[in-house]
Amino acid sequence: MQHGMFAANAPSGVTCPWCKRHWQAGALGAECGNCGGPLPPPPGPTRGHGPPPAPRHLPDKYTRDVLLWKNVGAMVGTIFAAFGGLFGFLGLGLVFVLLPLGLGFVGFGVLFGGIGLALRSASRRSALRQIAALTHGYPSEGQIIAVSQDTSETINGRHPYRIEYVFQVNGQPVGGSTRAWDVVNALRRPGEPLWVVFLPSDPSANSIWPPIN
Ligand SMILES: [Zn+2]
Repeated sequence: MQHGMFAANAPSGVTCPWCKRHWQAGALGAECGNCGGPLPPPPGPTRGHGPPPAPRHLPDKYTRDVLLWKNVGAMVGTIFAAFGGLFGFLGLGLVFVLLPLGLGFVGFGVLFGGIGLALRSASRRSALRQIAALTHGYPSEGQIIAVSQDTSETINGRHPYRIEYVFQVNGQPVGGSTRAWDVVNALRRPGEPLWVVFLPSDPSANSIWPPIN
């Protein structure tokens, strides 16, 4: 029986998706006592509270993390762009001293800086789509279809969980996926209900609500 399978795995609590503070199962409310963001329900057969009406206010720290501090592409892109800018600047000075070396530095700076800016803007674009879905998206009842470990990435000997889900848009199923580090995700099972928010103009911009981490 499905119900017994969930009940057997008593969750140990949940990590706030917005500020990353961990809450023990006993101290769990509907909202995070630290940042005020809505907390996801523990793994299990409960869908939990639906998303509040749009536009939803996201904690500022979360928006900054998604856009830059926890966004590897945007971070690497920013660093590349900064190095490119530095080399380009040095090259401009060197042009007057040693022309070929100066031009080499400028060329390197433009190439490096260009790659950095392109990476930064592509990474920010996908983060902005996710923020737009969380802030303005329409709610839809969704379901987990698979939970696996993503062995392509390892931090401190641990792999993130890859959670795939499906939700309905005008009666059509649309799939989405997210990556999460919280070990509580090992307890999530296919078939578990959840809320998804998506942009009606582009349902590929979507997120679990509240986000899982
Ligand atoms: Zn929080």
